[in-house]
Amino acid sequence: MKTKPGTEPRIKTVLNVDAEGKTNVEGIWAAGTIAGVSVHTIITAGDGAKVAINVISELNGERYVDHDLMK
Ligand SMILES: Cc1cc2nc3c(=O)[nH]c(=O)nc-3n(C[C@H](O)[C@H](O)[C@H](O)COP(=O)(O)OP(=O)(O)OC[C@H]3O[C@@H](n4cnc5c(N)ncnc54)[C@H](O)[C@@H]3O)c2cc1C
Repeated sequence: MKTKPGTEPRIKTVLNVDAEGKTNVEGIWAAGTIAGVSVHTIITAGDGAKVAINVISELNGERYVDHDLMK
Protein backbone atom coordinates (compact mmCIF):
# COMPACT_ATOMS: atom_id res chain seq x y z
CA MET A 1 0.00 0.00 0.00
CA LYS A 2 1.36 3.43 -0.90
CA THR A 3 2.40 5.62 2.02
CA LYS A 4 3.85 9.08 2.46
CA PRO A 5 5.45 11.01 5.30
CA GLY A 6 2.99 12.34 7.89
CA THR A 7 2.71 16.08 8.47
CA GLU A 8 1.19 15.99 11.97
CA PRO A 9 3.29 15.89 15.16
CA ARG A 10 4.41 12.33 16.03
CA ILE A 11 2.70 10.83 12.96
CA LYS A 12 5.61 9.44 10.98
CA THR A 13 3.88 7.78 8.03
CA VAL A 14 0.35 7.90 6.61
CA LEU A 15 -1.44 6.13 3.78
CA ASN A 16 -1.61 7.85 0.43
CA VAL A 17 -5.35 8.38 -0.07
CA ASP A 18 -7.26 10.32 -2.69
CA ALA A 19 -9.90 12.95 -1.88
CA GLU A 20 -12.53 10.24 -1.39
CA GLY A 21 -10.38 8.24 1.03
CA LYS A 22 -9.35 5.49 -1.39
CA THR A 23 -5.90 3.95 -1.11
CA ASN A 24 -4.11 2.57 -4.14
CA VAL A 25 -5.41 -0.91 -3.24
CA GLU A 26 -8.86 -1.65 -4.65
CA GLY A 27 -11.47 -1.89 -1.88
CA ILE A 28 -9.24 -0.40 0.84
CA TRP A 29 -10.21 3.03 2.15
CA ALA A 30 -8.73 5.03 5.00
CA ALA A 31 -9.76 7.93 7.21
CA GLY A 32 -8.53 9.92 10.17
CA THR A 33 -5.00 9.81 11.51
CA ILE A 34 -3.83 7.08 9.15
CA ALA A 35 -5.11 9.15 6.23
CA GLY A 36 -3.08 12.18 7.35
CA VAL A 37 -5.73 14.61 8.57
CA SER A 38 -5.22 16.93 11.54
CA VAL A 39 -5.17 14.83 14.72
CA HIS A 40 -8.15 16.29 16.55
CA THR A 41 -11.13 14.18 17.54
CA ILE A 42 -13.70 16.20 15.64
CA ILE A 43 -11.61 16.25 12.46
CA THR A 44 -10.70 12.58 12.46
CA ALA A 45 -14.31 11.62 13.28
CA GLY A 46 -15.61 13.88 10.51
CA ASP A 47 -13.12 12.41 8.08
CA GLY A 48 -14.32 8.93 9.04
CA ALA A 49 -17.91 9.99 8.37
CA LYS A 50 -16.92 11.51 5.02
CA VAL A 51 -15.17 8.35 3.89
CA ALA A 52 -18.02 6.15 5.17
CA ILE A 53 -20.46 8.13 3.03
CA ASN A 54 -18.17 7.63 0.05
CA VAL A 55 -17.97 3.86 0.69
CA ILE A 56 -21.75 3.55 1.02
CA SER A 57 -22.22 5.64 -2.13
CA GLU A 58 -19.87 3.42 -4.10
CA LEU A 59 -21.58 0.26 -2.85
CA ASN A 60 -25.03 1.69 -3.67
CA GLY A 61 -23.97 3.10 -7.04
CA GLU A 62 -25.40 6.54 -6.20
CA ARG A 63 -24.63 9.36 -3.80
CA TYR A 64 -25.95 8.59 -0.36
CA VAL A 65 -27.64 10.99 2.07
CA ASP A 66 -29.68 10.06 5.12
CA HIS A 67 -31.39 13.41 5.50
CA ASP A 68 -35.14 13.57 5.54
CA LEU A 69 -36.37 15.50 2.53
CA MET A 70 -38.27 18.72 3.25
CA LYS A 71 -41.79 18.47 1.92
C1 LIG B 1 -2.84 11.48 24.70
C2 LIG B 1 -3.73 12.06 23.64
C3 LIG B 1 -4.54 13.15 23.95
C4 LIG B 1 -5.39 13.70 22.98
N1 LIG B 1 -6.17 14.77 23.30
C5 LIG B 1 -7.00 15.30 22.39
C6 LIG B 1 -7.83 16.42 22.70
O1 LIG B 1 -7.82 16.94 23.84
N2 LIG B 1 -8.64 16.94 21.75
C7 LIG B 1 -8.69 16.39 20.49
O2 LIG B 1 -9.47 16.87 19.65
N3 LIG B 1 -7.91 15.33 20.15
C8 LIG B 1 -7.07 14.79 21.07
N4 LIG B 1 -6.27 13.71 20.75
C9 LIG B 1 -6.31 13.23 19.36
C10 LIG B 1 -7.47 12.27 19.11
O3 LIG B 1 -7.51 11.30 20.14
C11 LIG B 1 -7.21 11.62 17.76
O4 LIG B 1 -7.08 12.63 16.76
C12 LIG B 1 -8.32 10.66 17.35
O5 LIG B 1 -8.64 9.73 18.36
C13 LIG B 1 -7.88 9.91 16.11
O6 LIG B 1 -8.93 9.07 15.70
P1 LIG B 1 -8.66 7.96 14.59
O7 LIG B 1 -9.93 7.24 14.44
O8 LIG B 1 -8.02 8.59 13.38
O9 LIG B 1 -7.52 7.03 15.22
P2 LIG B 1 -7.55 6.16 16.55
O10 LIG B 1 -8.47 6.76 17.59
O11 LIG B 1 -6.10 5.97 16.91
O12 LIG B 1 -8.22 4.80 16.07
C14 LIG B 1 -7.50 3.83 15.37
C15 LIG B 1 -8.01 2.48 15.85
O13 LIG B 1 -7.45 1.47 15.02
C16 LIG B 1 -7.08 0.40 15.87
N5 LIG B 1 -6.07 -0.37 15.15
C17 LIG B 1 -4.76 -0.08 14.97
N6 LIG B 1 -4.15 -1.04 14.26
C18 LIG B 1 -5.11 -1.96 13.99
C19 LIG B 1 -5.09 -3.17 13.28
N7 LIG B 1 -4.00 -3.63 12.69
N8 LIG B 1 -6.23 -3.84 13.18
C20 LIG B 1 -7.39 -3.38 13.74
N9 LIG B 1 -7.46 -2.23 14.42
C21 LIG B 1 -6.33 -1.53 14.53
C22 LIG B 1 -6.59 1.03 17.15
O14 LIG B 1 -6.65 0.13 18.21
C23 LIG B 1 -7.60 2.16 17.30
O15 LIG B 1 -8.75 1.77 18.02
C24 LIG B 1 -5.43 13.15 21.70
C25 LIG B 1 -4.62 12.04 21.39
C26 LIG B 1 -3.80 11.50 22.36
C27 LIG B 1 -2.95 10.28 22.02
